[in-house]
Amino acid sequence: MPLVSGLDVIAECTTRGLVAGAFNTTNIETTMGIVDAVERVGVPTFIQVAPTNVKLSGYEYVYDMVARRLATCPVPVALHLDHGKSLTAVEDAVAARFTSVMIDDSESPYDTNVATSAKARELAVPGIALEAELGSIGGKEDDVSPEHASTTDPAQVRDFVQRVGCDMLAVSVGNVHGHAPDARIDFDLLTKVREESPVPLVVHGGSGLPAEQLGRLAEFGVVKVNVASDLRNAMIRAFGEAYAANPHENSLIRVSLDAVAAITDVVEQRIRQLNPSA
Ligand SMILES: [Zn+2]
Repeated sequence: MPLVSGLDVIAECTTRGLVAGAFNTTNIETTMGIVDAVERVGVPTFIQVAPTNVKLSGYEYVYDMVARRLATCPVPVALHLDHGKSLTAVEDAVAARFTSVMIDDSESPYDTNVATSAKARELAVPGIALEAELGSIGGKEDDVSPEHASTTDPAQVRDFVQRVGCDMLAVSVGNVHGHAPDARIDFDLLTKVREESPVPLVVHGGSGLPAEQLGRLAEFGVVKVNVASDLRNAMIRAFGEAYAANPHENSLIRVSLDAVAAITDVVEQRIRQLNPSA
């Protein structure tokens, strides 16, 4: 089917009690691997790309690649801008027909974050989902590595969401970007945030969280969980292992297909961990 709006993914997941994985793509192998897994499991999903990862090709190429693969996929999937750190990035993704965008000004003072995010709401015209971030998620991924990570303050949540008009809210409740084996969700804080939020929540840093925690997020109003590092590592490992096994290996397509299969396995595992009853 054609790409759907992020609003449709949110609505279907909310209705069915599911959590959408949001998987970062960088290239055709990652894209193929993600969609193969989505077809196996049948859970609505976001495919996303951060501004740092369009250096090779630009947003239009990513749109074309993802939309072409999804044409034969029966599961609803939205194309999302991950960590739009500027309004220009949001504008560019919207111009390239992305169906969901994130504005991330979470490192700025509260009022600045509200103002920037509200401007992104104007750019994300009706039909495009908007994610904004309150509290700054720690760890390092892409160009996202705040000097001062901070948790989401429940007292700010309702005011922020109402003033921005976002459709989902990224929260910092113990989750950490990138390789973070010690990251743990603070479910007490997540509960307080959820009670204040008029919209569903988003958890970044899915790669670092244990399966047992991922499987509980649906009960806490979480609709989207970002996973990037796992997929990237699967692809890089496939190429590293091929080279280590034979430095004269020259079948690029064989190694590429191995990488796709490895990515598919990782994505399927994460979707099932997020939705143990699906
Ligand atoms: Zn993130």
